[in-house]
Amino acid sequence: MLCGNTRDNLLIARAAHATPQLFDPLDVVSCGECASAWFPEARVANVDYLSTEDTTGDPWFEYFIDHYLELVNGLDWKVPLLEQLPFDRFGRVLEVGCGVGVTLDFCRVVWGADVVGLEPSAYGRWGRRLLDLDVRPSYMADLLAGADERFDLIYSTEVIEHVADPVQFLREARSLLTDDGVLMLTTPRAESLTPDTPLGPLYGALSAGAHYFLPSAGQLESIARRAGFTWCSITPAGVSHVAVLAGRPVDISSWEGRADRIADYYAVRARTPSPERPRCQLGASINHYVTASQQSRTIDPRHWVEIRRGVIEHFGVDLDDPRPHLAEIEQTTSLFEMGAVLPFNIAAALYWHARELRASGRSPGHYGALAMLLTSHGLSVDYRQLWTMRPLFELLGDPGAPVGNDELSSALLDRAHKIAAGVPELADEVPPQVVVPGSAPPRRPWVPAPARRSVRFVLRHQRALAARLRL
Ligand SMILES: [Zn+2]
Repeated sequence: MLCGNTRDNLLIARAAHATPQLFDPLDVVSCGECASAWFPEARVANVDYLSTEDTTGDPWFEYFIDHYLELVNGLDWKVPLLEQLPFDRFGRVLEVGCGVGVTLDFCRVVWGADVVGLEPSAYGRWGRRLLDLDVRPSYMADLLAGADERFDLIYSTEVIEHVADPVQFLREARSLLTDDGVLMLTTPRAESLTPDTPLGPLYGALSAGAHYFLPSAGQLESIARRAGFTWCSITPAGVSHVAVLAGRPVDISSWEGRADRIADYYAVRARTPSPERPRCQLGASINHYVTASQQSRTIDPRHWVEIRRGVIEHFGVDLDDPRPHLAEIEQTTSLFEMGAVLPFNIAAALYWHARELRASGRSPGHYGALAMLLTSHGLSVDYRQLWTMRPLFELLGDPGAPVGNDELSSALLDRAHKIAAGVPELADEVPPQVVVPGSAPPRRPWVPAPARRSVRFVLRHQRALAARLRL
Protein backbone atom coordinates (compact mmCIF):
# COMPACT_ATOMS: atom_id res chain seq x y z
CA MET A 1 0.00 0.00 0.00
CA LEU A 2 1.13 3.52 -0.66
CA CYS A 3 0.08 5.41 2.47
CA GLY A 4 0.54 2.86 5.22
CA ASN A 5 -3.15 2.75 6.11
CA THR A 6 -4.34 -0.63 7.48
CA ARG A 7 -8.04 0.15 8.08
CA ASP A 8 -11.13 -0.20 5.90
CA ASN A 9 -9.28 -1.68 2.96
CA LEU A 10 -11.53 -3.40 0.42
CA LEU A 11 -10.94 -6.29 -1.94
CA ILE A 12 -12.25 -4.86 -5.23
CA ALA A 13 -11.17 -7.45 -7.82
CA ARG A 14 -9.08 -10.49 -8.45
CA ALA A 15 -6.93 -10.20 -11.54
CA ALA A 16 -5.40 -13.03 -13.50
CA HIS A 17 -1.60 -13.06 -13.34
CA ALA A 18 0.40 -12.32 -16.49
CA THR A 19 1.67 -15.90 -16.18
CA PRO A 20 -1.65 -17.58 -15.31
CA GLN A 21 -0.31 -21.10 -15.68
CA LEU A 22 2.09 -20.46 -12.79
CA PHE A 23 0.26 -18.06 -10.50
CA ASP A 24 -3.23 -17.82 -9.03
CA PRO A 25 -5.18 -14.61 -9.68
CA LEU A 26 -3.97 -11.76 -7.47
CA ASP A 27 -6.06 -9.72 -5.04
CA VAL A 28 -6.60 -6.07 -5.98
CA VAL A 29 -7.21 -4.02 -2.84
CA SER A 30 -8.50 -0.47 -2.54
CA CYS A 31 -7.13 1.67 0.28
CA GLY A 32 -9.77 2.93 2.73
CA GLU A 33 -7.71 6.05 3.33
CA CYS A 34 -6.37 7.30 -0.02
CA ALA A 35 -8.42 5.26 -2.56
CA SER A 36 -5.30 3.94 -4.27
CA ALA A 37 -5.29 0.29 -5.34
CA TRP A 38 -2.48 -2.17 -4.82
CA PHE A 39 -1.54 -5.82 -5.11
CA PRO A 40 -0.67 -7.11 -1.61
CA GLU A 41 1.04 -10.15 -3.11
CA ALA A 42 3.15 -8.19 -5.62
CA ARG A 43 6.42 -8.49 -3.74
CA VAL A 44 6.40 -12.26 -4.06
CA ALA A 45 4.28 -12.70 -7.18
CA ASN A 46 5.60 -10.04 -9.54
CA VAL A 47 7.79 -11.31 -12.32
CA ASP A 48 10.64 -8.99 -13.24
CA TYR A 49 11.21 -8.00 -16.80
CA LEU A 50 14.16 -9.79 -18.28
CA SER A 51 17.02 -7.41 -17.72
CA THR A 52 19.21 -9.37 -20.06
CA GLU A 53 20.30 -8.09 -23.43
CA ASP A 54 20.54 -11.61 -24.75
CA THR A 55 17.68 -12.51 -27.05
CA THR A 56 19.34 -15.38 -28.82
CA GLY A 57 16.96 -18.27 -29.10
CA ASP A 58 13.95 -16.03 -29.80
CA PRO A 59 13.54 -16.14 -33.58
CA TRP A 60 10.76 -13.55 -33.50
CA PHE A 61 12.56 -10.94 -31.42
CA GLU A 62 13.72 -8.92 -34.40
CA TYR A 63 10.15 -8.80 -35.70
CA PHE A 64 9.11 -7.60 -32.26
CA ILE A 65 11.45 -4.65 -32.75
CA ASP A 66 10.08 -3.96 -36.23
CA HIS A 67 6.55 -4.10 -34.84
CA TYR A 68 7.53 -1.62 -32.17
CA LEU A 69 9.27 0.76 -34.57
CA GLU A 70 6.58 0.58 -37.23
CA LEU A 71 3.40 0.54 -35.17
CA VAL A 72 3.37 0.68 -31.38
CA ASN A 73 6.15 3.07 -30.43
CA GLY A 74 3.79 5.41 -28.56
CA LEU A 75 4.53 8.57 -30.58
CA ASP A 76 0.81 9.10 -31.19
CA TRP A 77 0.11 9.64 -27.50
CA LYS A 78 3.52 10.55 -26.03
CA VAL A 79 4.24 13.42 -28.43
CA PRO A 80 1.00 15.34 -27.64
CA LEU A 81 1.72 14.94 -23.91
CA LEU A 82 5.31 16.13 -24.25
CA GLU A 83 4.54 18.98 -26.61
CA GLN A 84 2.11 20.49 -24.11
CA LEU A 85 5.19 21.33 -22.02
CA PRO A 86 7.49 24.35 -22.67
CA PHE A 87 9.79 22.18 -24.78
CA ASP A 88 11.78 25.10 -26.28
CA ARG A 89 13.82 25.24 -23.10
CA PHE A 90 14.55 21.51 -22.83
CA GLY A 91 18.17 21.21 -23.94
CA ARG A 92 18.82 17.85 -22.29
CA VAL A 93 16.16 15.17 -22.05
CA LEU A 94 16.13 11.82 -20.24
CA GLU A 95 13.57 9.06 -20.71
CA VAL A 96 13.43 6.39 -18.03
CA GLY A 97 12.31 3.08 -19.52
CA CYS A 98 12.59 4.28 -23.11
CA GLY A 99 12.23 0.96 -24.94
CA VAL A 100 13.81 1.31 -28.38
CA GLY A 101 13.68 5.08 -27.87
CA VAL A 102 11.48 6.35 -30.70
CA THR A 103 10.03 9.21 -28.63
CA LEU A 104 13.52 10.26 -27.54
CA ASP A 105 14.50 10.21 -31.19
CA PHE A 106 11.56 12.57 -31.83
CA CYS A 107 12.89 14.95 -29.12
CA ARG A 108 16.32 14.85 -30.75
CA VAL A 109 15.11 15.29 -34.35
CA VAL A 110 12.23 17.74 -33.87
CA TRP A 111 13.24 19.64 -30.71
CA GLY A 112 16.98 19.45 -31.35
CA ALA A 113 17.53 18.22 -27.77
CA ASP A 114 20.42 16.14 -26.44
CA VAL A 115 18.81 12.91 -25.36
CA VAL A 116 19.67 9.99 -23.08
CA GLY A 117 17.55 6.90 -22.50
CA LEU A 118 17.62 4.28 -19.77
CA GLU A 119 16.50 0.81 -20.82
CA PRO A 120 17.98 -2.36 -19.34
CA SER A 121 16.11 -4.69 -21.71
CA ALA A 122 17.17 -5.76 -25.19
CA TYR A 123 14.99 -3.00 -26.68
CA GLY A 124 17.62 -0.51 -25.53
CA ARG A 125 20.37 -2.29 -27.42
CA TRP A 126 18.29 -2.12 -30.59
CA GLY A 127 17.67 1.59 -30.03
CA ARG A 128 21.42 2.16 -29.87
CA ARG A 129 21.97 0.22 -33.05
CA LEU A 130 19.00 1.15 -35.22
CA LEU A 131 18.42 4.76 -34.15
CA ASP A 132 21.98 5.56 -33.04
CA LEU A 133 20.70 6.79 -29.67
CA ASP A 134 22.47 7.13 -26.33
CA VAL A 135 20.42 4.41 -24.63
CA ARG A 136 22.11 2.93 -21.58
CA PRO A 137 21.33 -0.43 -19.95
CA SER A 138 21.15 1.22 -16.53
CA TYR A 139 18.93 2.72 -13.85
CA MET A 140 18.66 6.26 -12.46
CA ALA A 141 20.79 5.25 -9.44
CA ASP A 142 23.63 4.41 -11.84
CA LEU A 143 23.42 7.89 -13.39
CA LEU A 144 23.47 9.48 -9.93
CA ALA A 145 26.53 7.44 -8.99
CA GLY A 146 28.37 8.42 -12.18
CA ALA A 147 29.41 11.71 -13.74
CA ASP A 148 27.43 14.80 -12.79
CA GLU A 149 24.59 14.79 -15.35
CA ARG A 150 21.43 16.87 -15.10
CA PHE A 151 18.38 17.08 -17.35
CA ASP A 152 15.85 19.81 -18.17
CA LEU A 153 13.14 17.23 -18.82
CA ILE A 154 12.80 13.70 -17.52
CA TYR A 155 9.82 11.68 -18.64
CA SER A 156 8.76 8.15 -17.89
CA THR A 157 5.56 6.61 -19.17
CA GLU A 158 3.94 3.60 -17.49
CA VAL A 159 7.06 2.74 -15.47
CA ILE A 160 6.63 3.86 -11.85
CA GLU A 161 3.89 1.29 -11.20
CA HIS A 162 6.50 -1.43 -11.83
CA VAL A 163 8.68 -0.09 -9.02
CA ALA A 164 8.37 -1.30 -5.42
CA ASP A 165 9.43 2.07 -3.92
CA PRO A 166 7.86 4.91 -5.93
CA VAL A 167 9.03 7.66 -3.54
CA GLN A 168 12.63 6.60 -4.06
CA PHE A 169 12.01 6.53 -7.84
CA LEU A 170 10.75 10.13 -7.73
CA ARG A 171 13.60 11.25 -5.43
CA GLU A 172 16.14 9.89 -7.89
CA ALA A 173 14.41 11.65 -10.79
CA ARG A 174 14.35 14.90 -8.83
CA SER A 175 18.07 14.63 -8.11
CA LEU A 176 18.74 14.28 -11.84
CA LEU A 177 16.78 17.42 -12.77
CA THR A 178 18.20 20.91 -13.25
CA ASP A 179 16.84 23.59 -10.87
CA ASP A 180 13.90 24.41 -13.09
CA GLY A 181 13.68 20.93 -14.60
CA VAL A 182 10.38 19.15 -15.20
CA LEU A 183 9.37 15.54 -14.62
CA MET A 184 6.45 14.11 -16.58
CA LEU A 185 5.04 10.70 -15.88
CA THR A 186 2.07 8.60 -16.73
CA THR A 187 0.80 5.71 -14.63
CA PRO A 188 -2.50 3.78 -14.46
CA ARG A 189 -5.00 5.43 -12.16
CA ALA A 190 -6.98 3.74 -9.41
CA GLU A 191 -10.05 5.72 -10.49
CA SER A 192 -10.18 3.63 -13.71
CA LEU A 193 -10.90 0.41 -11.80
CA THR A 194 -14.65 0.39 -12.31
CA PRO A 195 -16.96 -2.09 -14.05
CA ASP A 196 -17.52 0.58 -16.74
CA THR A 197 -13.92 0.42 -18.00
CA PRO A 198 -13.72 -1.95 -20.99
CA LEU A 199 -11.91 -5.18 -20.32
CA GLY A 200 -8.93 -4.49 -22.60
CA PRO A 201 -7.86 -1.17 -21.05
CA LEU A 202 -8.75 -2.53 -17.60
CA TYR A 203 -6.45 -5.49 -18.09
CA GLY A 204 -3.66 -3.20 -19.28
CA ALA A 205 -4.11 -0.89 -16.29
CA LEU A 206 -4.01 -3.80 -13.83
CA SER A 207 -1.25 -5.91 -15.46
CA ALA A 208 -1.29 -8.21 -12.45
CA GLY A 209 2.09 -9.81 -11.92
CA ALA A 210 3.93 -6.73 -13.24
CA HIS A 211 2.39 -3.75 -11.42
CA TYR A 212 2.67 -2.99 -7.69
CA PHE A 213 -0.02 -0.33 -7.36
CA LEU A 214 -2.39 2.07 -9.09
CA PRO A 215 -2.32 5.40 -7.23
CA SER A 216 -5.28 7.70 -6.79
CA ALA A 217 -4.65 11.25 -7.98
CA GLY A 218 -4.44 12.43 -4.37
CA GLN A 219 -1.92 9.76 -3.41
CA LEU A 220 0.23 10.40 -6.48
CA GLU A 221 0.46 14.05 -5.51
CA SER A 222 1.28 13.09 -1.94
CA ILE A 223 4.10 10.78 -3.09
CA ALA A 224 5.45 13.54 -5.34
CA ARG A 225 5.51 16.00 -2.46
CA ARG A 226 7.26 13.47 -0.20
CA ALA A 227 9.91 13.15 -2.91
CA GLY A 228 10.46 16.92 -2.81
CA PHE A 229 8.40 18.22 -5.75
CA THR A 230 6.66 21.41 -4.68
CA TRP A 231 4.56 21.90 -7.85
CA CYS A 232 2.26 19.15 -9.19
CA SER A 233 -0.29 18.90 -11.97
CA ILE A 234 -2.17 15.62 -12.24
CA THR A 235 -4.77 15.11 -14.97
CA PRO A 236 -6.52 11.99 -16.28
CA ALA A 237 -5.89 10.62 -19.79
CA GLY A 238 -7.80 7.41 -20.46
CA VAL A 239 -6.96 4.85 -17.77
CA SER A 240 -3.80 6.76 -16.78
CA HIS A 241 -2.75 9.84 -14.85
CA VAL A 242 -0.51 12.39 -16.51
CA ALA A 243 1.63 13.98 -13.81
CA VAL A 244 3.83 17.02 -14.38
CA LEU A 245 6.08 17.60 -11.37
CA ALA A 246 8.54 20.42 -10.76
CA GLY A 247 9.95 22.84 -8.23
CA ARG A 248 8.14 25.85 -9.70
CA PRO A 249 5.03 26.35 -11.84
CA VAL A 250 5.15 24.91 -15.35
CA ASP A 251 3.28 26.49 -18.22
CA ILE A 252 1.19 23.61 -19.62
CA SER A 253 -0.82 24.13 -22.79
CA SER A 254 -3.53 21.97 -24.27
CA TRP A 255 -2.33 18.69 -25.77
CA GLU A 256 -5.04 18.64 -28.42
CA GLY A 257 -3.85 19.06 -31.98
CA ARG A 258 -0.26 18.48 -30.96
CA ALA A 259 0.38 15.35 -33.02
CA ASP A 260 1.11 17.27 -36.22
CA ARG A 261 4.89 17.22 -35.92
CA ILE A 262 5.01 13.42 -35.89
CA ALA A 263 4.85 13.64 -39.69
CA ASP A 264 7.91 15.97 -39.64
CA TYR A 265 9.78 13.42 -37.56
CA TYR A 266 9.01 10.58 -39.97
CA ALA A 267 9.99 12.78 -42.92
CA VAL A 268 13.50 13.05 -41.45
CA ARG A 269 13.66 9.36 -40.50
CA ALA A 270 12.47 8.34 -43.99
CA ARG A 271 15.57 10.07 -45.40
CA THR A 272 17.93 8.41 -42.91
CA PRO A 273 19.45 5.15 -44.17
CA SER A 274 19.31 2.18 -41.82
CA PRO A 275 21.98 -0.14 -43.20
CA GLU A 276 21.61 -2.79 -40.53
CA ARG A 277 17.87 -3.20 -40.97
CA PRO A 278 16.68 -1.49 -44.17
CA ARG A 279 12.99 -2.09 -43.43
CA CYS A 280 13.42 0.40 -40.59
CA GLN A 281 13.81 3.23 -43.12
CA LEU A 282 10.97 1.86 -45.24
CA GLY A 283 8.77 1.71 -42.12
CA ALA A 284 9.51 5.40 -41.44
CA SER A 285 8.66 6.24 -45.04
CA ILE A 286 5.33 4.41 -44.73
CA ASN A 287 4.61 6.17 -41.43
CA HIS A 288 5.43 9.51 -43.01
CA TYR A 289 2.91 8.75 -45.77
CA VAL A 290 0.23 7.80 -43.22
CA THR A 291 0.78 10.66 -40.76
CA ALA A 292 1.03 13.28 -43.52
CA SER A 293 -2.20 11.90 -45.07
CA GLN A 294 -3.97 12.02 -41.71
CA GLN A 295 -3.17 15.74 -41.54
CA SER A 296 -4.34 16.33 -45.10
CA ARG A 297 -0.89 17.46 -46.16
CA THR A 298 -0.07 17.48 -49.85
CA ILE A 299 1.73 14.29 -50.74
CA ASP A 300 4.10 13.95 -53.65
CA PRO A 301 2.79 11.03 -55.80
CA ARG A 302 6.38 9.77 -56.01
CA HIS A 303 6.16 8.92 -52.31
CA TRP A 304 3.79 6.03 -53.03
CA VAL A 305 6.03 4.88 -55.88
CA GLU A 306 8.96 4.73 -53.44
CA ILE A 307 6.93 2.73 -50.92
CA ARG A 308 5.86 0.27 -53.59
CA ARG A 309 9.47 -0.08 -54.75
CA GLY A 310 10.69 -0.58 -51.15
CA VAL A 311 8.13 -3.32 -50.48
CA ILE A 312 9.21 -5.13 -53.67
CA GLU A 313 12.88 -4.78 -52.73
CA HIS A 314 12.66 -5.86 -49.08
CA PHE A 315 9.65 -8.20 -49.07
CA GLY A 316 9.39 -9.38 -52.67
CA VAL A 317 5.72 -8.35 -52.79
CA ASP A 318 4.29 -6.04 -55.46
CA LEU A 319 1.39 -4.09 -53.93
CA ASP A 320 0.08 -3.51 -57.47
CA ASP A 321 -0.36 -7.24 -57.93
CA PRO A 322 -0.62 -9.01 -54.59
CA ARG A 323 -2.31 -12.13 -55.99
CA PRO A 324 0.78 -14.40 -55.91
CA HIS A 325 1.14 -13.70 -52.15
CA LEU A 326 -2.44 -13.97 -50.89
CA ALA A 327 -2.12 -17.60 -49.86
CA GLU A 328 1.12 -16.84 -48.02
CA ILE A 329 -0.52 -13.95 -46.17
CA GLU A 330 -3.54 -16.05 -45.22
CA GLN A 331 -1.36 -18.89 -43.97
CA THR A 332 0.38 -16.72 -41.37
CA THR A 333 -0.80 -17.56 -37.87
CA SER A 334 0.56 -14.69 -35.80
CA LEU A 335 1.31 -11.01 -35.75
CA PHE A 336 5.01 -11.61 -36.23
CA GLU A 337 4.61 -14.04 -39.09
CA MET A 338 2.51 -11.40 -40.85
CA GLY A 339 5.23 -8.85 -40.19
CA ALA A 340 7.74 -11.09 -41.91
CA VAL A 341 5.64 -11.08 -45.12
CA LEU A 342 4.79 -7.35 -45.28
CA PRO A 343 5.60 -4.23 -43.22
CA PHE A 344 3.44 -4.08 -40.09
CA ASN A 345 2.10 -0.63 -41.03
CA ILE A 346 1.34 -1.25 -44.70
CA ALA A 347 -2.45 -1.69 -44.29
CA ALA A 348 -2.85 1.93 -43.12
CA ALA A 349 -0.80 3.20 -46.06
CA LEU A 350 -2.94 1.17 -48.50
CA TYR A 351 -6.07 2.72 -47.00
CA TRP A 352 -4.70 6.26 -47.33
CA HIS A 353 -3.45 5.59 -50.84
CA ALA A 354 -6.94 4.44 -51.86
CA ARG A 355 -8.44 7.58 -50.31
CA GLU A 356 -5.91 9.75 -52.08
CA LEU A 357 -6.75 8.17 -55.45
CA ARG A 358 -10.47 8.64 -54.94
CA ALA A 359 -10.02 12.24 -53.74
CA SER A 360 -8.19 13.02 -56.98
CA GLY A 361 -11.09 11.67 -59.02
CA ARG A 362 -9.60 8.26 -59.83
CA SER A 363 -10.67 4.77 -58.85
CA PRO A 364 -9.34 3.68 -55.41
CA GLY A 365 -8.19 0.49 -57.14
CA HIS A 366 -7.71 -2.67 -55.11
CA TYR A 367 -5.69 -0.97 -52.35
CA GLY A 368 -8.60 -0.49 -49.94
CA ALA A 369 -9.71 -4.09 -50.46
CA LEU A 370 -6.17 -5.36 -49.84
CA ALA A 371 -6.07 -3.32 -46.60
CA MET A 372 -9.38 -4.95 -45.62
CA LEU A 373 -7.96 -8.42 -46.25
CA LEU A 374 -4.82 -7.66 -44.20
CA THR A 375 -6.70 -6.21 -41.23
CA SER A 376 -9.35 -8.99 -41.23
CA HIS A 377 -6.72 -11.70 -41.33
CA GLY A 378 -4.50 -9.95 -38.78
CA LEU A 379 -7.33 -9.51 -36.30
CA SER A 380 -8.52 -13.08 -36.72
CA VAL A 381 -5.13 -14.66 -35.97
CA ASP A 382 -3.65 -12.50 -33.21
CA TYR A 383 -5.48 -10.41 -30.60
CA ARG A 384 -2.38 -8.22 -30.24
CA GLN A 385 -3.43 -6.54 -33.48
CA LEU A 386 -6.62 -5.24 -31.85
CA TRP A 387 -5.03 -1.98 -30.78
CA THR A 388 -3.50 -1.16 -34.11
CA MET A 389 -5.76 -2.82 -36.66
CA ARG A 390 -9.23 -2.62 -35.19
CA PRO A 391 -9.70 1.13 -35.84
CA LEU A 392 -8.58 0.67 -39.45
CA PHE A 393 -10.81 -2.39 -39.83
CA GLU A 394 -13.77 -0.24 -38.74
CA LEU A 395 -12.87 2.56 -41.17
CA LEU A 396 -12.69 0.01 -43.98
CA GLY A 397 -16.07 -1.47 -43.02
CA ASP A 398 -17.71 1.94 -43.34
CA PRO A 399 -20.05 2.31 -46.34
CA GLY A 400 -17.98 5.28 -47.53
CA ALA A 401 -14.68 3.37 -47.43
CA PRO A 402 -12.41 3.79 -50.48
CA VAL A 403 -12.97 0.35 -51.97
CA GLY A 404 -13.00 -0.18 -55.73
CA ASN A 405 -15.45 -2.33 -57.70
CA ASP A 406 -12.93 -3.88 -60.08
CA GLU A 407 -12.48 -7.64 -60.29
CA LEU A 408 -9.43 -7.81 -58.01
CA SER A 409 -11.14 -5.67 -55.35
CA SER A 410 -14.19 -7.95 -55.40
CA ALA A 411 -12.01 -11.05 -55.07
CA LEU A 412 -10.05 -9.54 -52.16
CA LEU A 413 -13.21 -8.37 -50.42
CA ASP A 414 -14.78 -11.80 -50.80
CA ARG A 415 -11.85 -13.38 -49.03
CA ALA A 416 -11.78 -10.60 -46.42
CA HIS A 417 -15.47 -10.90 -45.57
CA LYS A 418 -15.20 -14.63 -45.00
CA ILE A 419 -12.36 -14.02 -42.54
CA ALA A 420 -14.00 -10.97 -40.95
CA ALA A 421 -16.81 -13.08 -39.55
CA GLY A 422 -14.32 -14.38 -36.96
CA VAL A 423 -12.83 -11.02 -35.99
CA PRO A 424 -13.18 -10.23 -32.27
CA GLU A 425 -14.68 -7.03 -30.87
CA LEU A 426 -12.42 -4.59 -29.09
CA ALA A 427 -14.23 -5.22 -25.83
CA ASP A 428 -13.58 -8.96 -26.19
CA GLU A 429 -9.87 -8.54 -25.87
CA VAL A 430 -8.09 -11.28 -23.92
CA PRO A 431 -11.37 -12.54 -22.46
CA PRO A 432 -10.40 -14.63 -19.43
CA GLN A 433 -7.75 -12.34 -18.01
CA VAL A 434 -9.58 -10.26 -15.43
CA VAL A 435 -11.66 -12.02 -12.85
CA VAL A 436 -14.44 -9.68 -11.85
CA PRO A 437 -17.35 -11.83 -10.60
CA GLY A 438 -20.74 -10.59 -11.69
CA SER A 439 -21.18 -7.16 -13.19
CA ALA A 440 -19.61 -5.32 -10.27
CA PRO A 441 -16.32 -5.96 -8.45
CA PRO A 442 -16.64 -7.88 -5.17
CA ARG A 443 -16.30 -5.08 -2.67
CA ARG A 444 -15.65 -6.72 0.65
CA PRO A 445 -13.28 -6.09 3.53
CA TRP A 446 -9.80 -7.24 2.71
CA VAL A 447 -7.78 -9.26 5.17
CA PRO A 448 -4.16 -10.14 4.43
CA ALA A 449 -3.77 -13.62 2.95
CA PRO A 450 -2.36 -16.25 5.32
CA ALA A 451 1.38 -16.74 5.13
CA ARG A 452 0.85 -20.18 3.62
CA ARG A 453 -0.44 -18.57 0.45
CA SER A 454 2.63 -16.37 0.13
CA VAL A 455 4.84 -19.42 0.49
CA ARG A 456 2.97 -21.02 -2.37
CA PHE A 457 3.64 -17.94 -4.48
CA VAL A 458 7.33 -18.02 -3.65
CA LEU A 459 7.55 -21.68 -4.63
CA ARG A 460 5.74 -21.04 -7.88
CA HIS A 461 7.84 -18.00 -8.60
CA GLN A 462 11.00 -20.04 -8.13
CA ARG A 463 9.64 -22.71 -10.41
CA ALA A 464 8.84 -20.09 -13.03
CA LEU A 465 12.34 -18.66 -12.80
CA ALA A 466 13.86 -22.13 -12.98
CA ALA A 467 11.83 -22.87 -16.10
CA ARG A 468 12.96 -19.65 -17.68
CA LEU A 469 16.59 -20.25 -16.86
CA ARG A 470 16.19 -23.90 -17.91
CA LEU A 471 17.58 -25.16 -14.59
ZN1 LIG B 1 -3.72 4.59 1.00
